[in-house]
Amino acid sequence: MQIYNTLTRTKEEFEPIEDNHVRMYCCGPTVYNYAHIGNLRTYIFEDILRRALLFNGYKITHCMNITDVGHLESDADEGEDKMEKGAMREGLTVWELARKYESAWMEDMNRLNIERPEVICRATEHITSMINLVQKILDNGYGYIAPGAVYFDTTKFPKYADFAHLDLSGLQAGAGGRVQLLGEKKHPNDFALWFLNKPRHIMQWDSPWGPGYPGWHIECSAMSMQYLGDQFDIHCGGVDHIPVHHTNEIAQSEAASGKPFVKYWMHGEFLLVSKTDDDKKTDKNTQEEAAKMSKSSENFLTLQVLIDKGFDPLAYRYLCLQAHYRSELRFSWDTLQSAQNGLRRIYTLTADSDPLSDEESFKAARDEVLSALNDDLNTPQMVGLLNRHNSFKLWREFDPILGLNIEARSRRDDGELPVEVQALVDERNQARKSKNWALSDDIRNKLIDMGYEVGDSPTGTTVKKKLL
Ligand SMILES: [Zn+2]
Repeated sequence: MQIYNTLTRTKEEFEPIEDNHVRMYCCGPTVYNYAHIGNLRTYIFEDILRRALLFNGYKITHCMNITDVGHLESDADEGEDKMEKGAMREGLTVWELARKYESAWMEDMNRLNIERPEVICRATEHITSMINLVQKILDNGYGYIAPGAVYFDTTKFPKYADFAHLDLSGLQAGAGGRVQLLGEKKHPNDFALWFLNKPRHIMQWDSPWGPGYPGWHIECSAMSMQYLGDQFDIHCGGVDHIPVHHTNEIAQSEAASGKPFVKYWMHGEFLLVSKTDDDKKTDKNTQEEAAKMSKSSENFLTLQVLIDKGFDPLAYRYLCLQAHYRSELRFSWDTLQSAQNGLRRIYTLTADSDPLSDEESFKAARDEVLSALNDDLNTPQMVGLLNRHNSFKLWREFDPILGLNIEARSRRDDGELPVEVQALVDERNQARKSKNWALSDDIRNKLIDMGYEVGDSPTGTTVKKKLL
């Protein structure tokens, strides 16, 4: 497989550190609100990567964190705490808020047919690992203790600017505001490992430096190293993680272990959303202004909004597959509608009179699609080839990667199901695959309440409208 490595800015042949076993870490959600579809695009990319590695015969240990500790609005250790703000908004405790949005996130993962990582770890359950890591960083001479926090001293880590190609002199001289915000930090790029003297912060733990709570970046270093070792193969996230979060993760981890941290870094691009479809028609410039979706900006689309408008969650998955993960994807209701129409058409294909019925032509087509996949996950090219061949057998062959439920959906003999019913069926299949029997039973009861008979077949859940 060829993959693009942010570390070297080149496409490289993928070779795991340990023979045939891939260890991979993906930055997970901060659970203070619903995920927006821009976040979900990143998880879909990571799911395709995971499935592609499995398809190519690798074993995988995939780890993802849940950020359930409160953090500040910006990466720069300032602003309001998102969790506390969310808890206030909803009249919940921060703990209740975190669990509520963690379950909502899991539900989104199921509806999008995203496979569950082997390890999902909550930050609040790994505070000891984080404290130990901060101690190691201090012992190795890369940190300092100030009244408000224990900081990482970026001047002690000469490689600090390399990963994101940062211009540190520019940061200091050009952004006057940032120098004023220096406060007790020795350098504007220094970042908090452990916050102190914030008695009003609701989540607090004891530490050798006094009660406080961890900085955001330290959790990913601590948990990835705990589950995957000091050095592992792949680390993923969104492109917005490159200049601060992942830069800081590399600094902390390598300062603690003295070894190169991660071999391949992979990043998914933004989803762009035009303000409204009408704007787009009247003013070309608004397309350029299309906003990056951000959870902090209160104005965002969730998967539930798409479902409420009659869209199948898998249509959104299919839309994401039509763009390369390293290209920006412009979302609009029109493109989502086309994706849904395209998906419906694929579901009408059957094994009868398949254009690739002879072994040889099937094998040639399969090789072609596989090399698109293995060329840095070129899903738009895969989808293009699959649509051109128009073969049920070929779509089914690659569905373990695409995750569009081709087999189950096209063999359905109960006609077209309402979107919300189909979403529940997919979610239940996913729950059963990850052996979450309680959720599977809940969904069955929901479907029964909606007037369906529910059964289990080798290809998954079957539903039939009960006759009145
Ligand atoms: Zn992270």
